[in-house]
Order: sequence, then C-alpha cells, then structure tokens
Amino acid sequence: YGPAPEASGEVTAWLAARGRFGHFINGAFTKPGETFAADNPATGEPLAEVTQGTEDDITAAVKAARKALPKWAGLSGHERAQWLYAIARHLQKRERFLSVLETLDNGKPIRESRDVDVPLAIRHFYHHAGWAELIEDEFPGHTPHGVCGQIIPWNFPLLMLAWKVAPALAAGNTVVLKPAEYTPLTALAFAEICAEVGLPKGVVNIVTGDGRTGAALVAAEVDKIAFTGSTEVGRLIRRATAGSGKALTLELGGKSPFIVFADADLDAAVEGVVDAIWFNQGQVCCAGSRILAAESVAEDFTRRLTARLAKLRVGDPLDKCTDMGAIVHPVQLGRIHDLISAGEAAGARLIQAECQLPPKGSFYAPGILLDAHPANPAMVEEIFGPVATLSTFRTPDEAVELANNTRYGLSASIWSENLTLAMDIAAKVKAGVVWINATNVFDAAAGFGGMRESGFGREGGREGMATYLRRPSPTAQPEAAAG
Ligand code: NAD
Repeated sequence: YGPAPEASGEVTAWLAARGRFGHFINGAFTKPGETFAADNPATGEPLAEVTQGTEDDITAAVKAARKALPKWAGLSGHERAQWLYAIARHLQKRERFLSVLETLDNGKPIRESRDVDVPLAIRHFYHHAGWAELIEDEFPGHTPHGVCGQIIPWNFPLLMLAWKVAPALAAGNTVVLKPAEYTPLTALAFAEICAEVGLPKGVVNIVTGDGRTGAALVAAEVDKIAFTGSTEVGRLIRRATAGSGKALTLELGGKSPFIVFADADLDAAVEGVVDAIWFNQGQVCCAGSRILAAESVAEDFTRRLTARLAKLRVGDPLDKCTDMGAIVHPVQLGRIHDLISAGEAAGARLIQAECQLPPKGSFYAPGILLDAHPANPAMVEEIFGPVATLSTFRTPDEAVELANNTRYGLSASIWSENLTLAMDIAAKVKAGVVWINATNVFDAAAGFGGMRESGFGREGGREGMATYLRRPSPTAQPEAAAG
C-alpha cells in the first residue's frame, strides 16, 4: 500500500475526541441519544457512533429553523453571500481533512474525494455565494420557500450536502438536513464548520438517522422537501407530500446509456467507461451503466475495454494509487451480487477484473456484462455498482431506441467524432443531462436533474436556484398600486 494521506492523523484524532455524535440543532450539538455505528467499509471497523434521530429531534430542528427564518430571509443577498463565502473558505481550509474523512466513511478512493467530491462541494458554495449577490436583480419579487427539509444519499455525501444547502441558503431559506445513515460524518464535520464561522443559530440543522428519520422530516412542518436517493423512496415521498402544499424536488435513480458510434475515438471512449461506471465504484446516479456500441466496432472496443479493466487497481481507499475503493456497505455489496447473479442467470456473460481483493471489507471486482438482452434484469435495474452491460446496435435510430428503452431518464453519454450526428442523437435521447465525448462532468453553474422516473427539478445553476424560490404571485399588486 502507498503512504496514507497527510490528514489521516488529524481525522483519527478528531474521531477519537468525539466518539459519539448528537445532532446539530440551533447552532449546537445535542447530547447523543440512541446511537448506531458509522463503519469504515474498507475494513468493517466502526469509526464513530451517531444518533438515530427521532420525531422529537426533527420537531426541535424544524422549530430552530423556523425561528431563524425571518432574520435570515430578511438579510440582503449581499449579506447572505458573505456567509456562503465564509463557509466555502472554511471548507477549503479543511479540504484534506474532509477528503480523508469522506474516504474513511464512504470507501471511495482518496484521489476522488480529494480531486472531485471536496473541491466540487467548495465550488458549489462559492458559486452560490455569487447567486446570493445577484438574487434581487435576477429573481425580482421572488421569496424563499421557508424551512427546507433535505434528505441525501451516501454516494457523494459532502457534495450532495453542498448541492442542497448552498442554493437553499443563498435563496434565504433555512434548512434541516438528514444525511444518509451509511455516511453521516462529513455532514457532522460541516456542522462544526457552520459553528466555527458563526453562522446564525438554526439556519443549518443536521439530524442523523435512517429512513425513519427521513420520513419524520417529510411529515414535519416544513415548506419544501428536496430529496436525492432511490426512485422507490422518491415515490413514497411524493405520495406523502401530495396535497400538503410542500414544494418538492426529487433527484432519483438512473440507467444511463453510453453510446459509442463507429467513428468514435475508441481509446477516449474506453477512458470514458472508466469514468462512467468504475468511478466511485459505480455508485453514481448518472453512471453510464448501459454501454451501447456500434456493431462494426464492438469487438475491437470490447477488447480494448477488457485490457483497460485488467489494469484497474482495486484496494485500500486511502492509498493514492487506488482506482477503485470499497462498496459503501455490506448491504449494498449484497444488492450488487444479487443483481449480477440475476443478470447471469438470465443469460448475460460477466467479464470481471482478476484482481486480488483485500481480505476484509466490502469490495467488488469491476466488470462488464456481455450478451444481455433488453429484458435482462441487469439491463433494466439500476445496479449501483461497478458493472455495466455492453450490447450492440446497427443504426443511429436503433441506438436511440435502445437508449430510451428504460423507465429512467437521468443522463446519457454519446461518443462520436461526427458532432452533427452526436447533436442530433442528443436531442432524441430522453435524459436530463447529455454529454458528448465526455461523461460525469459536473459544474455548479449547470442545472443537473432527470426526467421520467429519474425525478424532477434541477440542482445547480439558475434552474437550481429557481427551485429554492417561490415565484411572485401573478395577482400580487405592486405596493404603490395596492395603495
Ligand atoms: P435511499 O432512497 O434508500 O436513501 C436515500 C436517503 O433517503 C437516505 O438518507 C435515507 O435514509 C432516506 N430515506 C430512506 N427511506 C426514507 C423514507 N421512507 N422517507 C424519507 N427518507 C428516507 O437511496 P440510497 O440507497 O441511499 O441511494 C442510492 C440511490 O440514490 C440510487 O438509486 C441512486 O440512483 C440515487 N441517487 C440519485 C442521485 C441524483 O442526483 N439523481 C444522486 C445520488 C444518488
């Protein structure tokens, strides 16, 4: 194994000093209640104990957010921007610490948390500080929703927190956020940062716990729910909020096509697959999990892909040379095993990297599934692991048909040197985000989100800001006219 990153000792000391965490409510940590363990998926060892949030905890957090709302919403955009800049700067100061903590809690390689998760989270706060500055000019007459309940998954814990918290605060909302039960630790470190910068009490509240805590937040007296997670839970939340008057945005699952045309730069497309399905162990909502290759190049492409697969280094997430770390939790590992077995049972052929997996922890060797027919469970269900299906097409029309043969519509990736063709296909593929000769590119300035069963609403950019604001009522009269 390579050397451990510089901040490892600091993180170990931080975890040892805290040991058991309460919630962050009204600017302070509560006493820990009934707790559960946050484990390191690469070793199975516990990192800390975290409190299971109850209905009373949620009520207290919502009350604190409600109390803080008038003052926070009443600040000028410029004043709120100062707070967002302060948070961004403090996150930046603790960049190494947060990267190591994220890697320990989630299992993702340190290279990814250091170069992707944490820098993008910081960028999100800077970007939205800019939006806070502009808000009065860009969204005249708009008002914040009020108290926002925010529920996030475990695949990009700090980044998903940033996607939720930064625009909400920029728009003048206050928040109660529930991190995923597998990965609560960077959210708790973020709470400490809010306290360190002196953010007014109650503006950000963090309540840890599992789905029961999430359901209590959905049922609480909040004005908006923003959820990222599975389509199944998204559906429950949609039902639970129907008719309640609560605003709702859902960012859900995907089964995104990765289309390789015959004229594509095949080596670039192979590197694209690395980013599409082996990045973050494939636990990416917009993962390119269905590779569709033009029949005339499919054999060559599969050969190059298999050679690249063999070079992936799977192992200790803290090692800077590691390409793929641990799957977030043994339960998720079990789901991956089950879906791949079902795919094989239905006739698909698995090519898997012959790597030596670490003896402990939740690891899965990356792979590709060949010969899966369209109804194969591995082609239909979101695996949320490091395995993509690979099938072929003959014509562009067939590529579009296969690409759209899914209930999801989150993203798509198109590989071709013919940009006219790529642009034409992009318009025909049903997906909220389409990349051409690229994949999994995220930018705080670009709205991200899905269509069909991948959810609705956008995060990032102008569209993302709009989801945290209430439009002026069409019947509202200008003050002077109202007399
Ligand atoms: P999940 O839906 O089980 O959990 C997500 C969050 O919801 C967690 O915090 C969980 O505690 C909470 N939750 C669970 N049951 C709840 C309930 N009844 N009411 C309220 N909250 C509840 O999903 P997961 O397994 O943690 O995450 C993986 C899924 O998330 C995948 O399907 C993936 O595609 C999706 N995802 C989507 C995006 C996106 O932007 N579209 C991003 C990341 C992940």
